[in-house]
Amino acid sequence: MEVHCTVKNCRWWENNYCIAQGILITSDELGEMLPESYDYQQTQSIVQQYGETSVDSCMATCCKTFEAAGG
Ligand code: SF4
Repeated sequence: MEVHCTVKNCRWWENNYCIAQGILITSDELGEMLPESYDYQQTQSIVQQYGETSVDSCMATCCKTFEAAGG
């Protein structure tokens, strides 16, 4: 699957594509609660601990894999 992305200051961004091996998309609410280090590798344990999420629109989702370029 192609992941298109416009967030050019992310370390995984390259010419409007995401080149990360995997990404974790979650609700804004859960994304704010999770430690910065949590990413797609922890998806199963995150779901076990916090449950699956539900949102009303795309505006309530976030990319938890974002990492500032050069950070
Ligand atoms: S990790 Fe998320 S924010 Fe970063 S390039 Fe990929 S989709 Fe965009």
